[in-house]
Amino acid sequence: MHHKKRLGQNFLIDRNVIEKIIKHIGLSKEDYVLEIGPGDGALTKYITVLVNSLTIIEKDTNLINELSLIVEDPKKLKIYNQDVLKFNFSSIKTKIRIIGNLPYNISTEIIFKLCNLKNVTDMHFMLQKEVVDRITSKPDSKVYGRLSVMAQTYFDTKKLFDVSENVFIPRPKVKSSFIRFIPKSRVFDNLKHEMCFFDIVKSAFETRRKMIRSSLNNYLSEKDFANIGIDSKSRAENLTVENYLSISRYVKEI
Ligand code: SAM
Repeated sequence: MHHKKRLGQNFLIDRNVIEKIIKHIGLSKEDYVLEIGPGDGALTKYITVLVNSLTIIEKDTNLINELSLIVEDPKKLKIYNQDVLKFNFSSIKTKIRIIGNLPYNISTEIIFKLCNLKNVTDMHFMLQKEVVDRITSKPDSKVYGRLSVMAQTYFDTKKLFDVSENVFIPRPKVKSSFIRFIPKSRVFDNLKHEMCFFDIVKSAFETRRKMIRSSLNNYLSEKDFANIGIDSKSRAENLTVENYLSISRYVKEI
């Protein structure tokens, strides 16, 4: 089989790892599962046995026929042959559990897109280890960035285990990790707070080497920083999720 590099196609071939993934997700019949990038169905085959309803989103048209043959009962499987970055998640009205061995070239874009979905029970993803380290890192670390802040604001995140390069075909150049995201409830006061938060975090990390009094000078004066109780000489990577929530709460009131 020809694997498409531009679609990040590294397929899982190790049964032990696949079973370990499925065990950590812990599926039950009534779960409504959405799998991103099912590929040749390595995980899909296991998931369909365990749940009544599965939706898959796969961009590669060449894989769709094979995927449609995985289930005996076609009502159980809904297939979208499309780009997950263009998928309208709000068209799904039920609570969903999202799963995927994600295409690594767009994995952070996918996570940003999924951050503010309202109907997610949890998400389990295989990602580059380096991306999982960024997602779970704490302030003052070199890898703490916009992705860390966004992911930790919307979710409780937990790295479950590392995965070797040898369990994929073709073998990727990087190590992988499997991670769980559980949405937090009521993070923001309202939509305006959420929108301010989004802009502030983006602006802060666009110039991460600068002091935030300079990167956020469109939003806040020295006096504002003093009112919030945040040192304006800090850099983006020194601020906690709570700090960003306080700044955006303050900005939304100005
Ligand atoms: N789930 C399979 C496995 O574990 O063996 C395949 C995982 S592979 C890392 C990523 C999959 O995502 C590929 O099947 C690829 O074709 C698909 N893909 C890549 N870009 C996509 C996109 N924008 N939207 C939906 N699927 C995509």
